[in-house]
Amino acid sequence: MNDYIVSTECPTCSAPLDFSEGTNAVQCGHCRSKLLVTGRKQVLSYFIPPKIDHYRAIAAAMQAQQEQCSECRVIRPQIYFIPYYRLIGNDFRWEQALRIPVKPDIEYSQPGGYGPIYEWEYEDNKIDFGAIFRQAGDFIDIIFGRKCGPGGTIIDTQENMSGKTTDPLIFREIGADRSEDAEPAKVQLADRYIEKNFIACNLHGEGLYSLGLRPAVLRLELFQKSALEPLGKVVNTDIGINEAMGSSMKDAAMQPLLFRSVIGRILSIIYFPFWVIEMECHGNCISTIVDAVSQSVVKLDAPPSIYSILNQAQQSESTIVGFRPLCCPNCGWDLPLRPDDTIFFCSSCARAWQIYGSDLTEVPYEIAQIEGMNGQSRYLPFWVLVAQSGGEHLTFYIPAFRFRRLKMLADLAINITRNKPVYSICGDQKQEVKEMQGCFYDAEDAFLLAQFIQAGITSQTAIDMKTFNKNDLTLQGATLIGFPFKVNGFNLVDPFTGNTIPQSLLL
Ligand SMILES: [Zn+2]
Ligand SMILES: [Zn+2]
Repeated sequence: MNDYIVSTECPTCSAPLDFSEGTNAVQCGHCRSKLLVTGRKQVLSYFIPPKIDHYRAIAAAMQAQQEQCSECRVIRPQIYFIPYYRLIGNDFRWEQALRIPVKPDIEYSQPGGYGPIYEWEYEDNKIDFGAIFRQAGDFIDIIFGRKCGPGGTIIDTQENMSGKTTDPLIFREIGADRSEDAEPAKVQLADRYIEKNFIACNLHGEGLYSLGLRPAVLRLELFQKSALEPLGKVVNTDIGINEAMGSSMKDAAMQPLLFRSVIGRILSIIYFPFWVIEMECHGNCISTIVDAVSQSVVKLDAPPSIYSILNQAQQSESTIVGFRPLCCPNCGWDLPLRPDDTIFFCSSCARAWQIYGSDLTEVPYEIAQIEGMNGQSRYLPFWVLVAQSGGEHLTFYIPAFRFRRLKMLADLAINITRNKPVYSICGDQKQEVKEMQGCFYDAEDAFLLAQFIQAGITSQTAIDMKTFNKNDLTLQGATLIGFPFKVNGFNLVDPFTGNTIPQSLLL
């Protein structure tokens, strides 16, 4: 994955403060303040400052024109900040198994290594990203809707869900019809970390579609219109995320993808600088577009019509990250400095807090006690989801912690859910559980993963999975519970199934 660094200032001492994209907790290297980075699950805006001036941009443009033997005269150079959507997330996929044997996953046998990193393939045409993020908001509102019943379980009412059923799953029907095969195709689980940038205004044909691969680390600064306007023009985001994603689907390779969930998503808008150099060439007016970071020419002869898009005034309001002290809102104790966590456990007053907009909101949680367990254990947080499917009540056990191997995480969820575990809740031992792993996935992510594993549990073949309807599953309650995993050397033993997971893959 490309490294994107957010570059800003410490709100306490104003020293430069840099952190990786998606970081939720950071410490200032200068004044040592521990800070919570707010804005998670909101679409945050950043910009990248230009690195080359107009002399170098013109030089690059003139050289490119001369290589084409064009005699040109520069009329006017101008910087434009062009918006890009950037999406990263964990992609869980059910795919139709290939009939041809494939090489075993080499990476799988290397604990400690990151999973394979793929570019996003444009295989989806049913993604409604706008709805995903809207509904994610609705979902969080439901979860925090102060409808907490006894024991911290969040009760959902029918009228709450009807009309705006949470439908944030990314779903696509099977692409290729393989019905000529006699034996029904099997289903296999695949996982990937996804990362994609794509243009957020109507300039697809101008060589600007993607930010592409860049050798250097990109430094993102927090978007502030007033800081950018003296440098250049900010281009309006005039296409929705769905249209932006869909625009390059025509050449999509058809993959035997049956069902997918993308969780732990971060969507942002990045304004990238380009020099647009208006030129006169053989009596025609053209524009040469130069990347204002790398100095490469991305388009030699854009037509004058691009200005109608470039010069649209920016309409939408932008949201940027904020900071607040990384401490417990109840007792003031420092929360653990775990950059990727979205729910933090206070080791002093034993409360859990989730980043919600610019606030920390308390999340009720429980600690499980399991008959016959002894020895050293480590507590891992799970979302226990109660859902209904056609009159049947189902319970799902979804890991809330981050784990490097996505496939192992899904397997853990499937195995424990199938196992229908038995445990009791211990009332007042929270204070004694000092080491609870933080949470990376929130309840919304957990519900998406529950839909995903339900698709896998109920489908033997690819044909079964095609008939699976995620909307048949209605969420009724979500409870966060810490389960004790027995420490066995480098491994942790799942108390319900006896399967082990390597501790080194916990993040
Ligand atoms: Zn500081
Ligand atoms: Zn506290």
